Amino acid sequence: MSTPLIAIFVRHSPECKHADDELYRRCNCRKHLRWTHNGVQYRKTAGTRSWIEAEHAKRDLEDQLAGRTSSLSPEDNTQTIAAAVSLFIADKKVQGLSSDLIKKYTLWLGRLQTYCEGRGVFVVKGITRELVTGFCEDWPKLYPSTYTRAKLRERYKSFLRYCYEAQWLERVPAWPKIKIEEPPTMPLTAEEYKRLLEVVASIVRRRDTAIWAARVRGLFQLMRWSGLAIMDALTLKRDELIHDEAKGIYRVVTQRTKTGTHVTVPIPPDVAQELLSVQNDNDVYFFWSGEGSKKSVVGDWGKRFIVPAFEAAN
Ligand SMILES: [Zn+2]
Repeated sequence: MSTPLIAIFVRHSPECKHADDELYRRCNCRKHLRWTHNGVQYRKTAGTRSWIEAEHAKRDLEDQLAGRTSSLSPEDNTQTIAAAVSLFIADKKVQGLSSDLIKKYTLWLGRLQTYCEGRGVFVVKGITRELVTGFCEDWPKLYPSTYTRAKLRERYKSFLRYCYEAQWLERVPAWPKIKIEEPPTMPLTAEEYKRLLEVVASIVRRRDTAIWAARVRGLFQLMRWSGLAIMDALTLKRDELIHDEAKGIYRVVTQRTKTGTHVTVPIPPDVAQELLSVQNDNDVYFFWSGEGSKKSVVGDWGKRFIVPAFEAAN
C-alpha cells in the first residue's frame, strides 16, 4: 500500500497578518493536516499551534497509515478503514445481498468510519475495544430497541470478522454485550386472530361498508393463511390463486417482491372461496386497483384499515 502524502497547513485567526498564506510557519495560529487517499480528501487538526509539533503529528500519522506502529510486519497487512469498507461492500455485492441491505451496510459502516476518523484512527488496526465502546455509547438514544441494537452489533461484528480474516486486524475487538429486553414478535394466537376479524366491520369508514369490510377481512385471511407480506398480498393477482381440481386444493403461487423467492402455499378451500368473492374494480388483482405504486397502496391500507383494526382489537 502506498502511503499518502500529508501536507501541513495553517488555519489563521481573523486578526492574523498572514491570513492569506496558509503555509506561513511562524505565526501562532492552529496547524492542520490534509491528504488524499483513494480519491477522498481528509483534513484533521494537528492538535497544535506550532509548526514543529505539527511536523511530529504529520510523521505519526504517516506511520499509522504505513502500518509502522504495529508489532506485526508492516508491509502487507495495513489497510485503511475506508478501503476495508469498500472491499467488504463489494464482497457483499458478489454474495448477492439485496440492494436494500447493501445500502444499509453502506450507511452503518459509513458511521463507523466517520467515528473512527473523527478520532484520528484511519487504519483498521486502530479499531480497538475502547474505540468500539465509544462508538456504541449513544446507541440507546439512536436505537431504542435492544433487539435492533443486538442485530446491529452482529452486522458490525461481521465487518470486523471480515477484517480479521483478511489479516488487517490481529483480533476482533470485543463489542459491548447487549441484552435483549423485548420478546421477538410472535404470531397472533387463535384468540387474538379471532378478535382481529371481529373488529374489522367497526373500523371501516367508507360508503360501501360491507364490501370494504369483506375486502379487509379477505386481506387478513390471505396473509394469515399464505404467509405473504402485506405488499405481496395486496398486489396478488387473481390468476395466482390456483385451483388444483385433481387434488381438490387451492394454492397461492407467486413471487416475493422483496426476495424474489418463489412461493407456493396451499390454503383452505373456505379461505379461497372468501378470497374469490372479494369485490374489486380491477379484474386482474384481488385488492389492488393497479394504479399508483405498490408502496402507496400498502401505505393507504395500513393507515385506513390495518393500524385501526389492530388498535381496535387491542
Ligand atoms: Zn496566523
